[in-house]
Amino acid sequence: MEREQKVKLIRILIAGAMLIALQFLPVTGWVRMGLYLAAYLIIGYDILLEAFEGIREGEIFDEDFLMAVASIGAIVLAVITKSGDFNEAVAVLLFFQIGELFEDYAVDKSRDNIADLMDVRPDYANLEREGRLERVDPAEVAVGTVITVQPGERIPIDGVILDGESSLNTAALTGESLPRDVSPGDEVASGCINLSGVLRVRTTKAFGESTASKILDLVENAAEKKAKPEAFITRFAKVYTPIVCFAALALAILPPLVSQLVLHTAPQWTTWIYRALTFLVISCPCALVISVPLTFFAGLGGASRAGILVKGSNYMETLSRTRTVVFDKTGTLTKGVFEVEDIHHAIRNEAELLELAALAESASAHPISLSLQRAHGKCLDRSRVTDVREDSGKGVVARVDGIEVAVGNEKLMNELGIPFQSCHSAGTIVHVAVNGVYEGHIVVTDVIKPNAAEAVSALRKLGVTKTVMLTGDNEQVAKQVSGQIGIDEVHSGLMPDEKVAQVERLLERRTNGSLVFVGDGVNDAPVLSRADLGVAMGALGSDAAIEAADVVLMDDDPMKLRKAIRIARKCLRIVHQNIWFAIGVKLVCLVLGALGIANMWLAVFADVGVMVLAVLNAIRALRVKNL
Ligand code: ADP
Ligand code: MG
Repeated sequence: MEREQKVKLIRILIAGAMLIALQFLPVTGWVRMGLYLAAYLIIGYDILLEAFEGIREGEIFDEDFLMAVASIGAIVLAVITKSGDFNEAVAVLLFFQIGELFEDYAVDKSRDNIADLMDVRPDYANLEREGRLERVDPAEVAVGTVITVQPGERIPIDGVILDGESSLNTAALTGESLPRDVSPGDEVASGCINLSGVLRVRTTKAFGESTASKILDLVENAAEKKAKPEAFITRFAKVYTPIVCFAALALAILPPLVSQLVLHTAPQWTTWIYRALTFLVISCPCALVISVPLTFFAGLGGASRAGILVKGSNYMETLSRTRTVVFDKTGTLTKGVFEVEDIHHAIRNEAELLELAALAESASAHPISLSLQRAHGKCLDRSRVTDVREDSGKGVVARVDGIEVAVGNEKLMNELGIPFQSCHSAGTIVHVAVNGVYEGHIVVTDVIKPNAAEAVSALRKLGVTKTVMLTGDNEQVAKQVSGQIGIDEVHSGLMPDEKVAQVERLLERRTNGSLVFVGDGVNDAPVLSRADLGVAMGALGSDAAIEAADVVLMDDDPMKLRKAIRIARKCLRIVHQNIWFAIGVKLVCLVLGALGIANMWLAVFADVGVMVLAVLNAIRALRVKNL
């Protein structure tokens, strides 16, 4: 508990004790009134100050104002009627403060909770100097520095393993509990914990650009983007509070005037003023104002714990209404790990052709490029490659040892005006041309992710009415993949801008719900931002995808999308429960208060009760394990 909260707790205890003692103390008159006033100020001085500040700054109608007016009103009534009953004024503030303390504590707790879960920020990096390890601030480590990560330590900066073998716990990033084995040459992301061996890692990014820092920024910013219900609450409170204030005023003045002037009966001013004050207390919108943002906050936290980064509460809402899912093929439904199947029509020796292709591709991050480099197997001398131009959806043209090499699909060959041999093998065809002369093609094939089909049918069960696959790959491969997975609609041979056009067409035609695009972040940033919601998959390390997407799945399991939707639905369900519960109880109390059935005690009690329940309900959004 923080200091401020402790102070508040002590004030609550003192004022509570005084209130109880005053029921038994035989003091009367001014002494009694003085003691009540002391208890009142002890428990309420900050509320009075805040209310006063609010009035001075022109933001009159807030809950402090409501409480101040209600409690001062109760004191004034007690004096006028000479009842000497100041219990109510003190009790109103006492309960209000108990509620505030509880809320404060709950918010802190869930914040801590999320911060712990997202504890990916590394504190130091080890540099080896003269055989000894030295701890330095990771922010000061230059790109390309070799750092040492010992077993049990968190990897501070993204990099490539130079030597050492180990397994990594990636749970903080991906929510995945199985350790991942790594060996020299593998890329490692900051935030993972090194479990077994000592690793020497050459950093490939600055600390601020590394995965861990990126994720933390993202999570910290997420809470600021407001979802519709949240924005609704803010607007609601702005309109609502003045309305209830005037309604209370009307309740205090109109009935007595009517009875006096129209009905010619006793006006009963004190009764009606008391009812108006009760009405004010009841109408305090705290439960709503607090619980809705807290629910989103908890939902975002729960999602990140599962390796699903949702960039704002507004996306939670879009996600929960998913009806159409559009998938990219490569890297999303397939593993994006191509194997070289065959090399056809090669003019020169096949190994040479592969080397030329791998060299030309050496700067590309496309899965095909990575696969060619892997198939080539040997270390590539990148200084031999110049003038690299990558054409999204087509391929790469580059100079290798000064000779122009073109590597890509039929579109690329057509664009360059190079006649090529078509191929009927099942697979993605990578044509190679050197100095404008066709040199043959490499057939590469990808593997469908093992649970892609399961993921698609799980989405259907969640109410997704249409699944679409878009790909830049050829029709044959597209048909084969979509057939095996059970996708409703397929479009192949698409350039990145044609993918956008397809998504726009689907957006126009959809009848309800939101359209979600899922991609791996390679060549699909424009589509990611055009869809209602862009989901980047397997984004550990891919900056472009983390930037362009609204939701980032930290690993590349397509089932995660189902989980993301279920988390979002649970979160929204709780938000709606809280809204209706709070408004419902308020309405009932307001009516009872206006009729004189509910007194101020009941009002405060109901208010604090609703808030406690709403906050407890909100915290449920953090629990996402079994979704
Ligand atoms: P997908 O829609 O399946 O994710 P892309 O839009 O990334 O595919 O690419 C579409 C097609 O363009 C690929 O199937 C490939 O034929 C070709 N292509 C794109 N980039 C490259 C590259 N770097 N090397 C070779 N071919 C490429
Ligand atoms: Mg792609």
